[in-house]
Amino acid sequence: MPIVNRPEIAIATCARDARYDILFEPLAIGPVTARNRFYQVPHCNGLGYRDPSALAAMRGVKAEGGWAVVCTEQVEIHHTSEVTPFIELRLWDDRDIPALARMADAIHAHDSLAGIELAYNGMNGPNLYSREVPMGPAHLPVATFTHEPVQARRMDKADIRNLRRWHTEAALRAKSAGFDLIYVYAAHSLSFLYHFLSRRFNDRTDEYGGSIENRIRLLREVTEDAMHAVGATCAVPIRISVDDLQGEAGLNCAEIEDMIGCMANLPDLWDVTLAGWENDSRTSRFAEEGHEEEFIRGIKRLTSKPVVGVGRYTSVDRMVSLIRGGVLDFIGAARPSIADPFLPKKVEEGRIEDIRECIGCNICVSGDFTQSPIRCTQNPTMAEEWRKGWHPERVRPRGSERPLLVVGAGPAGLEAAHVLGKRGYEVTLAEARRELGGRVLDESRLPGLAAWIRVRDYRQGQIERLPNVQIFLDNRLSVEDVLALGTPRVVIATGSHWRADGAGRYHARPITIAASAEVLTPDDLMAGRLPRGKRVLVWDDDHYYMGGVLAELLADRGYDTLYITPASEASTWTRATLEQHFIQTRLLRKGVRIQSFRAVIEVKQDSVVTACVFTGATESLGIDATVLVTARLPDATLARELELRRTEWRHAGIDDVTVIGDALAPATIAHATYAGRRYGEECDARLMGVGELPFRREITQLLPI
Ligand code: ADP
Ligand code: SF4
Repeated sequence: MPIVNRPEIAIATCARDARYDILFEPLAIGPVTARNRFYQVPHCNGLGYRDPSALAAMRGVKAEGGWAVVCTEQVEIHHTSEVTPFIELRLWDDRDIPALARMADAIHAHDSLAGIELAYNGMNGPNLYSREVPMGPAHLPVATFTHEPVQARRMDKADIRNLRRWHTEAALRAKSAGFDLIYVYAAHSLSFLYHFLSRRFNDRTDEYGGSIENRIRLLREVTEDAMHAVGATCAVPIRISVDDLQGEAGLNCAEIEDMIGCMANLPDLWDVTLAGWENDSRTSRFAEEGHEEEFIRGIKRLTSKPVVGVGRYTSVDRMVSLIRGGVLDFIGAARPSIADPFLPKKVEEGRIEDIRECIGCNICVSGDFTQSPIRCTQNPTMAEEWRKGWHPERVRPRGSERPLLVVGAGPAGLEAAHVLGKRGYEVTLAEARRELGGRVLDESRLPGLAAWIRVRDYRQGQIERLPNVQIFLDNRLSVEDVLALGTPRVVIATGSHWRADGAGRYHARPITIAASAEVLTPDDLMAGRLPRGKRVLVWDDDHYYMGGVLAELLADRGYDTLYITPASEASTWTRATLEQHFIQTRLLRKGVRIQSFRAVIEVKQDSVVTACVFTGATESLGIDATVLVTARLPDATLARELELRRTEWRHAGIDDVTVIGDALAPATIAHATYAGRRYGEECDARLMGVGELPFRREITQLLPI
């Protein structure tokens, strides 16, 4: 069993590279000063008003990790505009202050500035909870992701006066909660101020509509109000979208530059983004690091105030060149700060290779869309700081001397070995293949998914520097091997494979497939096997990225590709990652034919029978090969065989065997890194008592009836 040959690398803290000094210069933002140029811009997280302590702890960890400014997500300022079912923070009245103060305190505990994004969503909030009538510049349907059948009413002058007052009151509450930066939010198509700026939504003929001066009037007034109320001690930034990529119909760079020019030095800082959210938070499949640069490049010359912008920046040299090149004053980050809350500290300590780079998958965004606590593929401790006491950098020391064997080095096995190794356990990591990485090794070779290899790279880099973790490559362990090794604890992380029988969501049982038919699975395509014939059908009953990516791959290779889904659209779950629109557009542009609301019900030698999901009407299509993207099955042979030989464990020296990750139940890569983390964190931990939850939760306090 060969041990992978690797040099011993000392784990040492080096001095910061002098090239990066500029990133650590303090910088004034109005009346407050940021200790460096790392700035966590506002980002949603699915915790909001439901989980205030978890949220405070999460933001506190960002501050601890060195972000000089740490902001909230959007915070609803008044009950007449709320975004149910999305769970954000609220500052409707004084009773909301303590939850927000807890967060500001957690941020201040690490000498960072606390920023709050005051939001009045206007025609972006259907008000499902408060049942108030939404308001906007015009009579128009509310523009939400869910197309609620609700319209906003046109605001009159009294509404505008009220709104200005509510915003000022919220700013004062934010100040009393301890915030240092109090945002005026006019970005992303998610704010009434944005709606007033945009000709698309603002058709008014009064002094708030028409010319640029008129459309910015309300933004100017609200900002001046905030300045007047809190500006002596708090900074007042404006967050604005520099382009919504709608061309003439919407807000474009030229118009926004004029608008910014009109009030260039009014706010204390300009926070510039793209609109809508899907353009701002593009995944790595659809945009490279720094994709917003062309839109924000000209902003700094318009103003003497500092500018912050984003672009999924994880390259430190790139950050320096943005500052030196006069593009930005602060490096803004949402996702890079989620994937690695300690990014600034690592730069400061000269530990660039320890940075856990965001892979740009937007699983974090899906937390907001599913109203669940934010998850991160790269950082499984995200949102578990308070609930479980996890920390992205610190782990508890080991709880015993008993060594562990981890079988399988995909995301789950790698993360388990990493955490266990960091805790000081003797760990043996065995991998059947010649390279670490499991599924990410294969998936990162698919179109657009190259950045996903960072899941492997980060963990491999960390593990290789732990002398107590031994890596065995090219070693497919059999049950005999595991018994012979006799490691007291065995973690099975052997992954999964795609089904070739058509069973999945639509068909819970295998479908009829002719023995002579050419049927491929994603594993076949990822292994380099391509269909023989030209006419290929991709049956996507998985609904996440795989079906769409494979259709793209086949189209790129010149296949006549037909994509069939029982859903209404391609890769429908990717709505939660803000990708669906981009995926369908790309497939259509590449010539993939898409048939929605149809199911494959039988695969014959040269044809496939499909059925309408509503009427059941069938159709036979001439097809040379079918790619089944339906479901996966755990690779559980080793676990099963070990179970069958349980009576031999004691004699072999094995105390327990645990199956984790896809080998237990296939899911996302984020689930796998979480499973690995959980095993690593809970190893030798006190077992939960009966009826106890494995996490803390916050319960609403009951009021007297
Ligand atoms: P997960 O997402 O749960 O981490 P993956 O499928 O990505 O799962 O990774 C599983 C890894 O386990 C793969 O790299 C595979 O080669 C490896 N593997 C599977 N069976 C064995 C085995 N018996 N011995 C060693 N490695 C194994
Ligand atoms: Fe980046 Fe994905 Fe983590 Fe979001 S979930 S921060 S996109 S790695």
